[in-house]
Amino acid sequence: MRKVSIFGATGSIGQNTIDLIARDPDGYDVVALSGGRNIVQLAHDAKRLNADVAVTAYPELLPDLREALDGSGIEAAAGKTALTEAASRPADWVMSAIVGAAGLEPGLKALEQGATLALANKESLVAAGPLLMATAKAHNARVLPVDSEHSAIFQGLVGEDMAAVERIIITASGGAFRDWPLEKLATATLAEASSHPNWDMGQRITIDSASMFNKALEVIETKEYFGVRPDQIEVVVHPESMVHALVGFNDGALMAHVGAPDMRHAIGYALHWPERRELPVARLDLVAIGQLTFRAPDMQRYPALRLAYEVMEKGGLYGAAFNAAKERALDHFIAGSLGFLDMARMVEDVLDKLSAGAADLMQPVTLANVATIDHLAREQADTLLKQRA
Ligand code: NAD
Ligand code: MG
Repeated sequence: MRKVSIFGATGSIGQNTIDLIARDPDGYDVVALSGGRNIVQLAHDAKRLNADVAVTAYPELLPDLREALDGSGIEAAAGKTALTEAASRPADWVMSAIVGAAGLEPGLKALEQGATLALANKESLVAAGPLLMATAKAHNARVLPVDSEHSAIFQGLVGEDMAAVERIIITASGGAFRDWPLEKLATATLAEASSHPNWDMGQRITIDSASMFNKALEVIETKEYFGVRPDQIEVVVHPESMVHALVGFNDGALMAHVGAPDMRHAIGYALHWPERRELPVARLDLVAIGQLTFRAPDMQRYPALRLAYEVMEKGGLYGAAFNAAKERALDHFIAGSLGFLDMARMVEDVLDKLSAGAADLMQPVTLANVATIDHLAREQADTLLKQRA
């Protein structure tokens, strides 16, 4: 039996992971599950999978979680320290599916105890790529990508030599507003930004897909995970979301990964790696699909993409600043205090302020420095919002 833990178990990726694990009850021994405010779901899954411990991120919800788990023998815990403690418990495979920079520390703890970290939490690579990858190396642990594009690239590289890789192309659906006239984008509402044409995901990543901040994070994720140069990474808009990524080699060959838009593929690949096992995902009927289309991303429509390349050029802790400013801008968009297009403007302003006033603080990438810059960037975003009002 493999010991597994799932952080962010109540979310979209977490639930898809549980769907796969629950199909093979004799295959897995569940150590820890974590969630947020959805105590009913967390307790339900902890009991169903007979976890050792269930952790909610929110200390004030501990009594509710205790009550929901009463009589089950499953330990209830809450808060940040409990989360990192749970991530330190020995496990063979750990799913990192918390949304946002909050996923970084549990991921590092899992790597420190030598686990294979299935990484959906792209924010940890954006904020602290060098730290995460070095921690894996130091502890003989492994990070496996779970983002669909990065799983696709990873699969395209099996048996290949990185020296023969010329370029990596990741696809973008274009999100909810890909066909909207540019003038209308400024008025996009929360409800409009919260529905995705092809993927069923958590609310935050769905909005990030509409603004292309998700693709911006993924471009940086590609650089950090695969160690390629920024100029080797391309983005193409592919509205059908069936080709997830392509790897281009020095002989002109492009290896494309094609599959239905279902995260259980990328999760299942990371779960069973290095084997392939049968997965409950749709099989594509290419004749019925008929055609797949590709187009260039419009940089005017998607300033987030331009920012990603600037962030990679600067390196150091600019990724941490970029991610934190984006998270805060998104908080404000969700709260109704910032317009859709103002998110990218706010992120750019935060980056400008930090390069002007805090350039000497922007490295090295240690956990403490990531926390400092994350905090500074969020504070700066709030200050900019107040100045606007
Ligand atoms: P979600 O919002 O559906 O779930 C997020 C999970 O994190 C929940 O369990 C929530 O309780 C928990 N959480 C939220 N804030 C937390 C905090 N501060 N501390 C601890 N736990 C917290 O999100 P999702 O769509 O499942 O995405 C999870 C991660 O996977 C994100 O990093 C996202 O970018 C990435 N990802 C998601 C998809 C997808 O299809 N949903 C695809 C690729 C990558
Ligand atoms: Mg993705």
